[in-house]
Amino acid sequence: MKQLDWSNLPFGYMKTDKNVRILYKNGKWGEIEESDSEYIPMHIAATCLHYGQEAFEGLKAFRGRDGKVRIFRMEENAKRLQSSCHATMMPELPVETFCNMVERVVELNKSYIPPYESGASLYIRPLLIGTGAEIGVKPAKEYLFIVFVMPVGPYFKGGFAANAYALVRSFDRSAPLGMGKYKVGGNYAASLYAHHLAYDKGYGSEFYLDAREKKYIDECGAANFIGIKGNSYITPKSESILPSITNKSLMQLAADNGMTVEHRPVPLEELNELDEAGACGTAAVISPISRIDDIELDVSYVISKDGKPGPVLTKLYHQLRAIQYGDAPDTHGWVTVLDI
Ligand SMILES: *Cc1c(COP(=O)(O)O)cnc(C)c1O
Repeated sequence: MKQLDWSNLPFGYMKTDKNVRILYKNGKWGEIEESDSEYIPMHIAATCLHYGQEAFEGLKAFRGRDGKVRIFRMEENAKRLQSSCHATMMPELPVETFCNMVERVVELNKSYIPPYESGASLYIRPLLIGTGAEIGVKPAKEYLFIVFVMPVGPYFKGGFAANAYALVRSFDRSAPLGMGKYKVGGNYAASLYAHHLAYDKGYGSEFYLDAREKKYIDECGAANFIGIKGNSYITPKSESILPSITNKSLMQLAADNGMTVEHRPVPLEELNELDEAGACGTAAVISPISRIDDIELDVSYVISKDGKPGPVLTKLYHQLRAIQYGDAPDTHGWVTVLDI
């Protein structure tokens, strides 16, 4: 194992030993290849560069107390990538190829998988891009799928804590019938400015309302929103929300805990009735929300009076982490265990 300051690693790029790649050419996927290059040789007219023909995924592998490595729900990421492929007219990558490549790249870089005690993990980034040259707006004939990894530190370095969010009314991250429900790079380009504004004002992230009516909660930056009200787990349903695998897992755990799961449009005013709120995604699992400031209308929705995470989200956070690290039984078959 490498000697790194695992617990203090940021969420950032780091070179590891190998990445794995596969090319799509002449109407079919080729053979999986290993590479130690961090670069992609690419045509200047590649469709990913000009017309945004790209999609990505994000998932993690964890080293357990038992020394084994667990990859969390990778088939779900493979399926979500397929839905992004349809949306951007890229060829579908078989789930099996995706999973084989993820397992292989984790194994090839096993010396970078952080030790159990550090609370860190191995972040896995699959990326699919149109590499064929086209200058008319049309799908490429050639594609590259690549998976690379890097160790990332624990999201909460000072312990599980809550953040304030800035509601931005002047920006949408996606249109109601647009690409919001797909994990494509353009959505992130569209969010950079609003994120910068919020971050500059000291907020954890920006917070979006639905683009059509500005009445309902959409996403918290690049994370899904969750609210807790009494015994209910509430999460917004909309055409422009990315279906988070973390949220899907938390909904299941909430149901297992005997909670009522409400997946429906959530009006902004309902924030006043919530006991707890959080943002969820692979990076943090849950990032609790203390307060949401509607910075343009100058209204504040205080969720947590003491600024601390609430008990229900804290419990769900620990329950999901325990499954990921192998400290709790994997009753839903969510983890792929590698003996490496
Ligand atoms: C990736 C992503 C999420 C979180 O999805 P997970 O599968 O839980 O990591 C939420 N919202 C957006 C916009 C995303 O891109």
